[in-house]
Amino acid sequence: EELQPKDSIIHWRQLVHPDDLLASDKAFENYFNGNASHYECKVRMRHKEGYWVCIHDRGKTATFTEDGKPEWVVGTHIDITSSYNSERLISRLSQAIPGIIYVFKMSPNGELSFPYVSEKTVEFYGLTSEQVRLDPNYVFNIVHPDDLPGLMESIEYSKKSMKTWHYEYRAVIKDKLSWLKGVATPEIDEDGAILWYGIVTNIDKQKALENKLLTLSITDELTGLHNRRFILGELEKQFASVKRYGESVSVALIDLDNFKSINDNYGHPAGDKVLRAFAKIINARLRGTDIYGRFGGEEFLIIFPNQSSENAMNSVNDILERFREQSFVTPTGQIFNATFSAGITEITSKDKDVSELVSRADNALYTAKAQGRNDLVLLEL
Ligand code: GH3
Ligand code: MG
Ligand code: MG
Repeated sequence: EELQPKDSIIHWRQLVHPDDLLASDKAFENYFNGNASHYECKVRMRHKEGYWVCIHDRGKTATFTEDGKPEWVVGTHIDITSSYNSERLISRLSQAIPGIIYVFKMSPNGELSFPYVSEKTVEFYGLTSEQVRLDPNYVFNIVHPDDLPGLMESIEYSKKSMKTWHYEYRAVIKDKLSWLKGVATPEIDEDGAILWYGIVTNIDKQKALENKLLTLSITDELTGLHNRRFILGELEKQFASVKRYGESVSVALIDLDNFKSINDNYGHPAGDKVLRAFAKIINARLRGTDIYGRFGGEEFLIIFPNQSSENAMNSVNDILERFREQSFVTPTGQIFNATFSAGITEITSKDKDVSELVSRADNALYTAKAQGRNDLVLLEL
């Protein structure tokens, strides 16, 4: 009775939030144009006490005028304030969160689905959240094929242990590779289905930084070659593979000759130049399968996998010929040349450990130095 005039939409329009009237008018228009089976809209309305409530408003034409125009619309108003508010809250939050928030469900029969997924799928995957909700395969299809088995395994593990799921994986989105990270907490519902509540974020920047740090940690700054840490790690691996498969792996330890004199006579920058020139030569002369790096100040180590020490000798000899041919010029116009000495040996299954091998190469190198430098010496166990 308090709503007056009762038989007019005018009063209703006065109570509706002005920002929602347009949507309501559009819904009516849509219905009267025959594009919808009924009128339906969610609007905020002013409660008698002054606050807003949210109304799910639905209606259909009940009677028509003689000339066929809609006369009376009959329908329902349902108060959906609480669900509307939580939906709005989630939607607002999901817009602010720098990732996709979602609920992922595994039914007792193993069926997978996304009961909820935020709109960020458009930005991340180029997929609408509707598409993902209807078919979870949209999401699995963009996971890099190499990462998919691991991803599935990690979900299985989280299911069995009921521990937080987390996984870093690559996704191919519009031909571009991205690193994504998912974190989600599992929960069993009353039907025995498992629901994961989680977030997926993009970690491209983190991965780029990780790679950069990894590269830096194994690279020698002056020459750009691998550093001692890397070489020792590789040496351990090769050592293990000789022990296991009995392969031939040879090693050459190289030390530039009279390098102290080069520094003393031509300056430290000239010495640096020689080190870089040597690096350039071995980069050009060695094969992709050879492993090498700067072992210390003016010392370098080369590992020749699957090669006899004779082959290694030939390669190092080739490098020495190329190196001693190269002339260096100082800023003051002095011209000089450099040489090196090398000790070569083969890893055998009798070697106790890597240090025994390195000291044999070092002994060979010492002999080469003692014999007058600019030379190679082979020492077998
Ligand atoms: P040998 O033929 O017996 O090897 O004599 P050497 O002078 O080469 O040997 P020594 O060990 O006496 O000297 C090595 C020198 O290498 C000393 C050190 O200052 C120099 N050195 C080490 N690292 C660098 C570097 O990064 N740049 C330059 N310019 N010199 C370096
Ligand atoms: Mg030295
Ligand atoms: Mg030296």
